[in-house]
Amino acid sequence: MARKFFVGGNWKCNGTVKSNEELVKVLNAAEVPGTDVVEVVVAPAAVHIPAVQAALRKDFSASAKTGLAKGLLPNPLKHRSDSLQAALRKDFSVSAQNCWQGKGGAFTGELSAEMLKDLGLPWVILGHSERRHILKESDEMIADKVAYALSQGLGVIYCIGEKLEERESGNTMAVNARQMKALADKISDWSQVVVAYEPVWAIGTGKVATPQQAQEVHDEVRKWLAANVSPEAAAATRIIYGGSVTAANCGDLATQPDIDGFLVGGASLKPEFVDIIKAAE
Ligand code: PEP
Repeated sequence: MARKFFVGGNWKCNGTVKSNEELVKVLNAAEVPGTDVVEVVVAPAAVHIPAVQAALRKDFSASAKTGLAKGLLPNPLKHRSDSLQAALRKDFSVSAQNCWQGKGGAFTGELSAEMLKDLGLPWVILGHSERRHILKESDEMIADKVAYALSQGLGVIYCIGEKLEERESGNTMAVNARQMKALADKISDWSQVVVAYEPVWAIGTGKVATPQQAQEVHDEVRKWLAANVSPEAAAATRIIYGGSVTAANCGDLATQPDIDGFLVGGASLKPEFVDIIKAAE
């Protein structure tokens, strides 16, 4: 089964109104493969989400409107010109970086899945290693968050990954399998889940996994899905790699058969994110 390449940009706790505007300008101007080839999602800090949503759309509607007013573009309802299609191809989605594990209410500082749906967000990142290890979210809490987000109609980018000492002690797959099982205990439908394998030792360190190291784990995770969920889920679920992905190293990673895209941190804040999207080609 063909799995559409998926590239996520995790902006983490970075950005200002101005720097995000600059970044979105770069994204809006980018020439990237079509939405039939790659799905692109950016995850700004929560407070910036509506502005980024509006800016990603504004440039498209502004350019389409100008073209229509000047008679440069035909009516899009009748016929889509090449330039209008090019604008549509840059239809990047916006994701949240976190949400609460149940219905919203008296949870100061939290974001509910209902709020994300209300904003029209299709995705949320859950289980990121910074939330697992710095904010001490447990496997169980994260699985609850994923189950609730899915129940509200969100897609989930579910991050897993081992720490350096776990890899060095030969426990890489034990850790990843434990994190997969925690989720499999709570959900049965994986169709709206993208698994992001992000070895903790590779995140933000400049120490990217080799294509062979990443492929080995992706293959094991897919086999785990086949054995513990279903062969269909294993074939259909996108397993993306994250950890110091750059324009320079994404090409070799993208050629691996079980790497279905990337979750990108630092490089997603720079124009090179566009080159990483192009690795889908
Ligand atoms: C991430 O935080 O999801 C990530 C992969 O970060 P970086 O690309 O900076 O390693």
